Amino acid sequence: MNSGYEVAVIGGGSAGLCAALAAARRGTKTVLIERSTKLGGMGTQALVHTFCGLYEPDLSKPPRLANAGLPTQIEREMRRLTHQTEPTRMGKLYVLLQDPSHFDALSKELVEAEENLTVLFENTCEDIRQCHHFEIKTNNHCFTANSVVDTSADAVVAGFLKATRLKSDTPQKSAYIFSLQNVAEEAREESFKMRLALDLVRAVQAGILPPEILGAASRASTLEGEIYFTIDLDEPDHGPALATDLVAFLKAHSPPFQNVPAPIFPDVPGVRETYRWLGKHVLTQEDLIEGKSFEDTIAKAAWPIELRETIKGPRFTYFKNPRSSDIPLRALMSEEIPGIFFAGRCLSATHEALASLRVMGTCFATGQAAGLAASLHARGVTPTAELVKGEIEHL
Ligand SMILES: Cc1cc2nc3c(=O)[nH]c(=O)nc-3n(C[C@H](O)[C@H](O)[C@H](O)COP(=O)(O)OP(=O)(O)OC[C@H]3O[C@@H](n4cnc5c(N)ncnc54)[C@H](O)[C@@H]3O)c2cc1C
Repeated sequence: MNSGYEVAVIGGGSAGLCAALAAARRGTKTVLIERSTKLGGMGTQALVHTFCGLYEPDLSKPPRLANAGLPTQIEREMRRLTHQTEPTRMGKLYVLLQDPSHFDALSKELVEAEENLTVLFENTCEDIRQCHHFEIKTNNHCFTANSVVDTSADAVVAGFLKATRLKSDTPQKSAYIFSLQNVAEEAREESFKMRLALDLVRAVQAGILPPEILGAASRASTLEGEIYFTIDLDEPDHGPALATDLVAFLKAHSPPFQNVPAPIFPDVPGVRETYRWLGKHVLTQEDLIEGKSFEDTIAKAAWPIELRETIKGPRFTYFKNPRSSDIPLRALMSEEIPGIFFAGRCLSATHEALASLRVMGTCFATGQAAGLAASLHARGVTPTAELVKGEIEHL
């Protein structure tokens, strides 16, 4: 196949899904390239099972969505599919529990409804060259596009085009997530979680389990009898072995887990941080915490800085004011190459700011803005925040 598209979106995770939907809904001929068989990225392939960053960070009021357009639509659909009448309160914030298989199905339903959108599954973007247009090569196809949105989470497009990539010396830890079914109800209670944590400490002290198990945390899902475990990893490839050890321990020593069938393991381990783009603005921790306002705001960040640099659990820094902070369009636009936009985990931010911006609720919002900006550029219109915000109202 050798076709011409107006917008090409690389990577169909939370950000890429929304970028592609937004561009297609605006009427631009769009292609979404995804290397796996699923949409939703970490939210399906790695079994990340909670949408964070959807709601304003203000518990003194009922939950309010921070971003209009696709984040609001996806929240509504996921609540319907998982029968949640209300979001869940988690510490100082609201979150929405999500089910990875529903997320994949919902994503596919949404893209199938768009006549201007072609999705190429099992296509890995292997190269992009810049000529008059962008020439894009996957393992199966070659085609051109006027604008490109990089939502690969790893800024792969910057690598192909030799643009500057940002990377931290101390990236956030990867993690391995799996789920167990048929777990007795008592294991879903908070008091049980505390007891289990103590049991794991004792098992590590007795040499029954390896010390990395101390990076494990559990969370009940929206399905009866299902619990997810997340193990933060010092060594990214230790996940399957640690998970297998933990399941064997639970079955042998913890009555609520005695009758669990084989666990559901993820397609890929969970990766929290790799490369990011250098944009026209690099968002910082200070921008978010101080609630700095930007004239070109196109999305809102509603999750605190959540750093996971060790396996001992998260370190939160909350925004000073109980409201979401501005994300400027310039953090989604390349400083070096016109026609390139980015969103989700590979947007232009410092290591600390990314620890807020990477959550899926925010990825939906930056994705839709990048898709709209790319769609405007593809038609020869200079994207501005005013135009992008106007388009969000029509999504
Ligand atoms: C362990 C863990 C726990 C987390 N917990 C939460 C949580 O509780 N709540 C929350 O909201 N967020 C959480 N996050 C963060 C969140 O899941 C991710 O940051 C978010 O999913 C990133 O979205 P994205 O669209 O930028 O990238 P991804 O979801 O990673 O999607 C990128 C997509 O691009 C595809 N791709 C990559 N390269 C190519 C290529 N060359 N060609 C074609 N396709 C390509 C991939 O297959 C993938 O589908 C967690 C992350 C991890 C790892």
